[in-house]
Amino acid sequence: MATTQVDSTATLDSIFETCREIGQDMEFSAAKQWQQGAPGRKVFGCFQIYSPVELIHAAGALPIAVVGAGNQLEIAHADSRFQSFVCSIVKSTLELGLTSRLKFLEGMFFHSICDPARNLASVFVRNFPEMFIEYVHFPQNLASPLGKQYLENEYQRIVGNLETRLGRKITTDDLNASIALYNQIRGLLREIYEIRANRPHMIGAAETFLLTRAGTLMAPEEHLKMLQIVMDLLPKRPSRPKDRIRVVLEGSFCELPPVPLIETLEEAGCYILDDDFFRGWRWFTSDVPIQSNPLAALAESYCDRSYYSGVKHDSRETKSGHLIQMAKERKADAVIIQAAKFCEPALFDYALYRKALDDANIPHLLLEFEEKGWIFDRARSEVETFVESLMFD
Ligand code: SF4
Repeated sequence: MATTQVDSTATLDSIFETCREIGQDMEFSAAKQWQQGAPGRKVFGCFQIYSPVELIHAAGALPIAVVGAGNQLEIAHADSRFQSFVCSIVKSTLELGLTSRLKFLEGMFFHSICDPARNLASVFVRNFPEMFIEYVHFPQNLASPLGKQYLENEYQRIVGNLETRLGRKITTDDLNASIALYNQIRGLLREIYEIRANRPHMIGAAETFLLTRAGTLMAPEEHLKMLQIVMDLLPKRPSRPKDRIRVVLEGSFCELPPVPLIETLEEAGCYILDDDFFRGWRWFTSDVPIQSNPLAALAESYCDRSYYSGVKHDSRETKSGHLIQMAKERKADAVIIQAAKFCEPALFDYALYRKALDDANIPHLLLEFEEKGWIFDRARSEVETFVESLMFD
């Protein structure tokens, strides 16, 4: 198992390799390493998409992403708990539990994103009675001023439950320190994404995916140091622009596409300028304010300063409008909708995106994937054909 600590001798390639190992490790060694660093440390898993990780961190615990097992685990038990038409991430997350890989967790957080995720929370309650299971209800009407107050109350409820479970008070200072830490991480990720959008030959989409994914499985303090080293090294990286089309990618906000699939899209001739991978861990468009009521700050930021998402319902704006705006701002030649098989939110959105992209005359391609995929020949040839049709039009 690679150490999560990187130092000034690290290279970008060695950092990305470390991140790849951490991301593939379904024994969660990086989180266990942190847990064993002092007695009584607790780790909580967070299912997709957005989790208020600051509440967990402020309680002295470590929030990590428990978001499926990719192609690292065969589904042997979880199939019997779900219908065959349910997305893979739900099944492989349960499989992690049923194969005792989540025993080290104190609890799990689930969120009101879709029916399969809601059912997964209930299945966890029934199958793992010793676990602390929290189901976070986000406001469904962001246009209402009551949404923020409701969410603040919801966060207060969760803080109370964490205090009872862990036997410690969570203070305003604790919460603000955690918000400040995650602000720094999200800020650096925004900067790295900005570098990628402006100079995509400097850092690729698969690399930012690895970097973000590793951060969801390790102590945020270590991830922050890692990101700072990446920011130091990036400007010195030798690289030359290649002849590729510029695309933005949408639809992979929950189930994680295999990294080799992202690499395949890049090798097939795409610079992926922006995406929605790990949207929940990069949720805010600007820093969450540090103020005397941190729960209100988190609630307001959720409602007013967060990215659009297939699982967030905001009648003040259209998701397709956001996608078109992103494609235009990034000066993209095209949009790739890469949706997980059986993901209803992503596939419902596709109908709206498709119409809006057609109306705006932006070429687009739909690719479906499953986290457990190994072979991407079909995706490669579809993307190569798409790229050629744009390059030699
Ligand atoms: S992949 Fe889609 S359907 Fe499955 S849990 Fe995620 S949002 Fe829900």
